Amino acid sequence: MSPLARTILITGCNRGIGLEIVRQLLAKPNAPEQIFATCRAPDSPQCQTLNELAAKNSNLKVIQLEATDPTSVNKAAKDLEAHLKGAGLNVLINNAGIMPPSTLETVDAEDLLHVYTTNVVGPLLVTKIHEALLPAPEGPGHDRLPGYYVLTRRFQRKGSLEPHWKEPAQVILIHEALLRAPEGPGHDRLPGYYVPKRRFHRKGSLEPRWKESAQVFLHLLKKAAKDNAHIGMSCQKAALINMSTRGSSITLCHELQDILPIVSYRCSKAALNMLTKCQSLGYKPDGILCTAIHPGWVQTDLGGPGAPLTPQESVKGILNVLYHLTEKDNGCLLDWEGKSIPW
Ligand code: NDP
Repeated sequence: MSPLARTILITGCNRGIGLEIVRQLLAKPNAPEQIFATCRAPDSPQCQTLNELAAKNSNLKVIQLEATDPTSVNKAAKDLEAHLKGAGLNVLINNAGIMPPSTLETVDAEDLLHVYTTNVVGPLLVTKIHEALLPAPEGPGHDRLPGYYVLTRRFQRKGSLEPHWKEPAQVILIHEALLRAPEGPGHDRLPGYYVPKRRFHRKGSLEPRWKESAQVFLHLLKKAAKDNAHIGMSCQKAALINMSTRGSSITLCHELQDILPIVSYRCSKAALNMLTKCQSLGYKPDGILCTAIHPGWVQTDLGGPGAPLTPQESVKGILNVLYHLTEKDNGCLLDWEGKSIPW
């Protein structure tokens, strides 16, 4: 059996499903040549198990990555590129995620933003921030970066931006998630939350470090796809896997409504599904397969001890599914057994 991939990167690997993916990949007789496992704090006790695995396995490298922090993502991209030494990245698994409790009664803007930032902005930052950062077209009417102007021309969150939120790309995504068009003439803010903002994303205003390194992850997937142009869409070629959940399905929404309301989480994963679908269409010409995976309800810190599946069972299924992914799975949501879940 050929390896799942030669090179693979997984986010959120110090515990839970991410750690188990690393364990099982390492245990395979045909393990990937290079496994990149990211975690937020490699030097912390929480990463001990992962570090021990890395000490015993030369094909495993631990990389620091806070998925919501562009500086960290940039640094991780640089580290990855250095390790790959000119090779491409076959598989990127956006696994890191959070699920704080929230109900329709308790959910608020802070909660939604926090979860959205980790579960949607994080995967986007890690994968594809570069498009928003490409140089603006020249000429009249093109004095802003494509995609920025429409979303950001009027709004910025009032007063409470953390330093890293000031990075333009993240601000845009907040807006995209939460802003409704103001009603009526002259209404350029949502009451209580947003204030008018000058047109701040002018051409040339982005810091050079964004331009040069943020596109590395996608660039490396594209490179892997190009290097394997002779084979069809697959993880052996190039694949972007976003870890979603059955709870994100609007069609099946009623299933969990009473058992597990978790409104902010479900909204964020529904958005992640849309991102996956958009990526699947956008990257199809590049040969990159994009699929969302539901790992099942799994006994992790997130899933809780009462979950029916162990991480071992879930990941065994996930890796089997990944192994068999083809073009027909591009832009789909599949569970750990390979069954399709309706959006
Ligand atoms: P865990 O809570 O066990 O682990 C989550 C991992 O994500 C940790 O490594 C955590 O790091 C990391 N993480 C969280 N936020 C960030 C961030 N901002 N940047 C980088 N890393 C971060 O969760 P699971 O292993 O159970 O879940 C993995 C994925 O599977 C998630 O996307 C989840 O939504 C999805 N899923 C899980 C289900 C389940 O039943 N377990 C069901 C459906 C989907 P740290 O330790 O530093 O916090």
